[in-house]
Amino acid sequence: MTAPLFPLFIDLRDRVVLVVGGGSVAARKIAPLLAAGARVRVGAPALGEAVQALLEQQRIEYIAGEFDADWLAGAWLVVAATDDDAVNRAVAAAGEAQGTWVNVVDDAKASTVHMPARVERGPLQLAISSGGGAPMLARHLRERLETELDDSLGELAELLAQARGRIRARYPRLDERRRFFDDLLSGPIPGLLRQGQNEDAARALDDALAPTPRSLKPGSVALVGAGPGDAGLLTLRALRLLNQADVILHDRLVSKDVLQMARRDAEFIETGKQAAQHHTTQERIHALMLEHALAGKRVVRLKGGDPFVFGRGGEELEFLRDHGIRFEVVPGITAALACAAYSGVPLTHRDHAQSVRLVTAHCKQSLDELDWPALAQERQTLAVYMGVAGLDGLRAQLLAHGRAASTPFALVENGSRREQRVILGTLDDLPERARAEAVQSPALLILGEVAALASQLHWFGDAPLLPHTHKAEAPWPSTKASSTPSAIRPSSNSTGSRRSTSRSTSRSNRSTPAAR
Ligand code: SAH
Repeated sequence: MTAPLFPLFIDLRDRVVLVVGGGSVAARKIAPLLAAGARVRVGAPALGEAVQALLEQQRIEYIAGEFDADWLAGAWLVVAATDDDAVNRAVAAAGEAQGTWVNVVDDAKASTVHMPARVERGPLQLAISSGGGAPMLARHLRERLETELDDSLGELAELLAQARGRIRARYPRLDERRRFFDDLLSGPIPGLLRQGQNEDAARALDDALAPTPRSLKPGSVALVGAGPGDAGLLTLRALRLLNQADVILHDRLVSKDVLQMARRDAEFIETGKQAAQHHTTQERIHALMLEHALAGKRVVRLKGGDPFVFGRGGEELEFLRDHGIRFEVVPGITAALACAAYSGVPLTHRDHAQSVRLVTAHCKQSLDELDWPALAQERQTLAVYMGVAGLDGLRAQLLAHGRAASTPFALVENGSRREQRVILGTLDDLPERARAEAVQSPALLILGEVAALASQLHWFGDAPLLPHTHKAEAPWPSTKASSTPSAIRPSSNSTGSRRSTSRSTSRSNRSTPAAR
């Protein structure tokens, strides 16, 4: 086995770096060198556009001509970036002879220094090398680290750099200092920086360094939206917080796929919630958040969809505020957005709907409180978060307030998940269709002119389920192939072209065979 490379970070400020070659590869190498403050000297017979631009901005020096070993005079580092192997080798040999470090692009063997794959967060840098053998692996790791590391880490590195002298003076012993850093990094300061509260972060650091230090330990709660189920719909920030959490309090609605993304040794607590026992459960959730935060834990309160859309997120934050617990909020993809996207229903559409309303209709009481005249208006989309039981009341109210019986709906069960089903129909037969297809929670109702588009724009999972109807005015054209610009006619009285979709092989496609 050959000895591994030795990693170093070099201070290139005002040092001469020679780059041999003036093309696009050279340009890519020059950019980070300039960013590191190097004085870049370019030697090449001619310059490509990008390097020429740098010359015109007087950001580089230029020597025109064929490579000459004299170009190396005073250089700390040489980068050979030509497309001619012989020239690259000559550059390497000249560098070796003069004791100057050489990097030959894409030639690990000829190089005495390698350029690593890098992840930068301010002064904090991670450099990854595979020793030149597997640059793709290094790049892959780099991409993973990019997603995992929050941008605010750079500010954390800066804050710690500023306080370095004070930290050493306060904790001269290494073991004490290490404990201090452990507390600091698992305490509130990284979170405050994430929240953009840099002054509070600096103050917390001051407090921790005071003669009688205030503990850095108090825990915090992150209210995090888990999205509708597909783990790919988590935000990067949600993922990062899930990776750091000590305790994860999650709803029943949060999918297994999402939970699998979380730190394995976190404590997972399911806070099952049924409509009937809302109140007792909510108190228990509050108590659990408080208990763990006071014990200094990093708590993630993970909610299906978005925490502020019918999620009681507001109440939970009020409770935390009243108890002096620090919190942050990470939005999630709410069911309306996910179900619309995954069923092919654009919530707004220039031809069909100019507004959307997110409505909840979980129980009789919530139905009674709704503004029905407004909800029954045409050319708007309702996204109804609901228990499936409320559909009869919903239909009756909308019809009574003038919404057309032929208004299309799409009922999306398990939106964005593998088992997603989309049931199509018209307002008139909504409860009946839901019963016939035995729709289960979680399901979201999208009602409005746009819902008819699902029959053409669906792209995920099984084809939508169409009703057994003989009415001529069915609002949806039933195959993708038959779609024409005039295909969406919520109140058309002409069409007779309804066939079941061609994807009628799966368990769930129980749409009609040829209607006539
Ligand atoms: N905070 C959540 C909503 C909580 S209310 C959000 O922003 O999405 C719960 C209701 O959301 C369910 O009754 C259902 O109507 C809807 N819902 C949540 N996830 C869903 C999913 N994957 N598919 C369909 N509906 C969903």
